[in-house]
Amino acid sequence: MTNNKPAILDGEKVRTQPFPARITMGKEELEEVSKVINSDVLSAFLGGPGAFFHGGKYVKAFEKKWAEKYGFKHAISVNSWTNGLITAVGAVGIEPGDEVICSPYTMSASATCAFFYGGIPVFADVDPATYCLSAETIEAKITPRTKAIIVVHLFGGCADMAPIMELAEKHNIKVIEDAAQSPGVHYQGKPVGAIGHIGGFSLNYHKHIHTGEGGMLVTNDDDMAMRARLIRNHGENSIEAYKIKNISNVIGANHRLTELQAAIGIHQLDRLENYLTQRQKLATYLSKRLNTLPGIDATQNYVGEHAFYVYPIKYDAKKVGLSRNLFLKAVSAEFPVPENFEGTVITEGYVKPLYLNQVYQQQIAIGEKGFPFNYNPEVTYDYSKGSCPVTEDLYEHTLLLSPMVREPLTIADMEDIFKGFEKVIHNAALIQEQLGHKNDESVVFNPVMAHAEVSDKAKL
Ligand SMILES: *Cc1c(COP(=O)(O)O)cnc(C)c1O
Repeated sequence: MTNNKPAILDGEKVRTQPFPARITMGKEELEEVSKVINSDVLSAFLGGPGAFFHGGKYVKAFEKKWAEKYGFKHAISVNSWTNGLITAVGAVGIEPGDEVICSPYTMSASATCAFFYGGIPVFADVDPATYCLSAETIEAKITPRTKAIIVVHLFGGCADMAPIMELAEKHNIKVIEDAAQSPGVHYQGKPVGAIGHIGGFSLNYHKHIHTGEGGMLVTNDDDMAMRARLIRNHGENSIEAYKIKNISNVIGANHRLTELQAAIGIHQLDRLENYLTQRQKLATYLSKRLNTLPGIDATQNYVGEHAFYVYPIKYDAKKVGLSRNLFLKAVSAEFPVPENFEGTVITEGYVKPLYLNQVYQQQIAIGEKGFPFNYNPEVTYDYSKGSCPVTEDLYEHTLLLSPMVREPLTIADMEDIFKGFEKVIHNAALIQEQLGHKNDESVVFNPVMAHAEVSDKAKL
């Protein structure tokens, strides 16, 4: 092979053409949005009881379509999934001092949502196979104050829900599913999102399907659905009209999706299955190829379906002979500099374990006095480093992620990615010899920030 010198040592790149960009909007969305604009009704919600308490015709149609497609009893749109999580926390009845068991390995809102009702996030470790909470890790954190568990279906996979639901029932704990990254995924034949009491999906730009910003709450519980609708839309005004007996937690906010977004969402939903099929096909191929390389474990060890929001890989630095960070830089150098988030080839670490954030380190969330951490005076909360060792290990050592397993990429693109990995691994000793001594490992790549960092740091 003539082109075998690694690009990081000034050889030729495996590939010079950028990977195809993700195109999310089509003519269907455009035509539907035009209709909304021509109607002039960009949102039809009114903040009191009546026909428009539940929104306008597009919002209602989008919710109905989502609910029917997956067999959820209720689908309730919201203007972000962060607000959806806050709504879910309110709807399950969290109140000050309640403990909410959370994953530390997720987007920050999956835990901070508890604070909005005075709940205290208590972190349980993840299972290294699923990257999600498990019944065992949860059980170790249950106390008499535990009121809810927020299970995150990370990366597009899903948590092993059956034992989690069994445990939750035994202790009378509510289960909220953060399925932001796993729309359309099934676990034991059931769609994730409402296997627990309430849950839902994000519709932000980076997710499989999107409305710019947005989210969809789902539940099979009528009471919880009504409470969620009240929280979404100034519930305090509707207590009498809807004969709400338990009026706790129904003071509302404005978490309403617009008609414009709903019009887009209706057509986005039609695209989801195709995306999942394509991503699964690419992932199957890529895993088969990458698993032939030493030090790379791309087995997707999940318990249900997988949506491949990102594609996790376990990396063994000793076997390869390169630190994860240097490996990442060397592989990145084999490809054109990505122009946007969607073009990032590989990243490392995902997010810092959430309890290491200042909110938990200083135990300051609402106001200056330490609420809600100080609500139960007999209890102290421990957010110290080392508290979730599996999560810390995944973050620091073993994990690489790629958002490249996505439409409209092809098997040929996957083969290029494989070739980049293969070339770096075959040349690991040479790269280590020339660059190992000056590699700065202090920066852990974050996929959200990675586009800037990859271009700055792909070359040492
Ligand atoms: C994207 C995401 C969220 C937040 O969703 P937004 O719609 O951006 O507010 C929450 N949890 C997880 C796991 C996510 O990936």
